[in-house]
Amino acid sequence: MSRRIEGHAARRRFGQNFLVDADIIHAIIAAIAPRADDTVVEIGPGLGALTGPLLERLPHLQVVEIDRDLIGRLRQRWPAERLTIHAGDALAFDFGQLAGGGRLRIVGNLPYNISGPLLFHLLGFAHAIHDLHFMLQKEVVDRMVAAPGTTDRGRLSVMLQYHFHIERLLDVPPESFAPAPKVDSAVVRLMPWRGAAAGATAHPHPVVRDAALFARLVASAFAQRRKMLRNTLRGLADSALLEAAGIAPTARAEELGVADFVRLADLLSTHGGR
Ligand code: SAM
Repeated sequence: MSRRIEGHAARRRFGQNFLVDADIIHAIIAAIAPRADDTVVEIGPGLGALTGPLLERLPHLQVVEIDRDLIGRLRQRWPAERLTIHAGDALAFDFGQLAGGGRLRIVGNLPYNISGPLLFHLLGFAHAIHDLHFMLQKEVVDRMVAAPGTTDRGRLSVMLQYHFHIERLLDVPPESFAPAPKVDSAVVRLMPWRGAAAGATAHPHPVVRDAALFARLVASAFAQRRKMLRNTLRGLADSALLEAAGIAPTARAEELGVADFVRLADLLSTHGGR
């Protein structure tokens, strides 16, 4: 199968699977429903499958793209006053610098090879974000929305669910892309819980006192997911502390809800978490 699309040789190392399905593109733009005064940032505009329709609705768009050939093509297609191109790696991009204008909305058909690290990178800007709309590998979306007690439950589920209300919007088959990926895809919307003020669902769990400690606790708990918490958290939380938080020391990380981790982190922080 040819990896040449519109004269561009698709690069596997940049996760380049370009959207070619007009119905799916239309459905994604409808889900985003951009408003002229929004500050919209697209990660990985590529050949412009979403960029074009977004610019039909917005006076201005920001994009972050790593591929120099694609950056050259984007520069030729749209003038700088319509399209601001941040050339470089989205994993190192400071999305916070774009906050302060209209609602900060980040969208993209993400490069699947870096989607996990990218989602963790974006957690750092959750306070500044209005919402996120992303195309991802379906298996990643399954992990993002996984409930306690299911095998897909992991660090990604807990950390994202702590910060965001997550909605699976639509499933997308491989044929919607060129070249077609080997996996199924899905589009999701993430809204920071603080966005409840904008009419979303109310915040479902308390705000943790020490966010860094919470992140460390969740990472440690899932580092050896098959083991009991009294073992994986050794040196961080002992059985007495787990029990004080209402958590069985024999439980495994995947059984815990977000609120359990919050309670444990708060107890740890008041006990001078080590
Ligand atoms: N938006 C286009 C579409 O839907 O057809 C392209 C999507 S393609 C799956 C992923 C895009 O992300 C490519 O344009 C690729 O060059 C870009 N990309 C890959 N890694 C990146 C990174 N670390 N930072 C920014 N862009 C990246």
